[in-house]
Amino acid sequence: MGDRPANLKAGFAALTGADHTRLAAESAYYMTEPVDYTDQDWFVNAVIAVETALPPEDLLAALKSIEKAAGRNYNTVRFGPRALDLDILLYEDRVIDAPGLTVPHPRMHLRRFALRPMCDIDPDRAHPVLGKTMAALLSELDAAGQELARL
Ligand code: AMP
Repeated sequence: MGDRPANLKAGFAALTGADHTRLAAESAYYMTEPVDYTDQDWFVNAVIAVETALPPEDLLAALKSIEKAAGRNYNTVRFGPRALDLDILLYEDRVIDAPGLTVPHPRMHLRRFALRPMCDIDPDRAHPVLGKTMAALLSELDAAGQELARL
């Protein structure tokens, strides 16, 4: 919601401006069609790569506190409008299946809004569970119902 590119930019800056994390690469920003709850505006999505001293659980906690600072209200409809949503797509080549954290993100391989920007950064990167590259996973998805446009 709100100025979506600015919210994203501020969220990225909050993470990469901290002592523990630095920016390594940033994708283009994309307008993306809502997938699960379709009666809403298009989203703005982007992917960044970071180098971080935080282990995965601490990184997730940092993302949640940045979302909270951006005014995200967790009581609204799941997949609905929100000021800022920060997810961990990949963490090195680790596979994590903990109660509050699944890595790779369990739906990233199904979502053009994740894979398209991911391919700006690292199209040849292999998905650690599926063994296919980000570019291959993107090419397998039908664009219908998952349109996107570079901002
Ligand atoms: P969402 O509302 O879709 O952003 O879901 C957020 C919740 O998903 C968080 O409270 C996390 O505990 C959980 N979660 C599980 N795996 C991940 C992940 N890879 N990245 C972000 N959140 C995750």
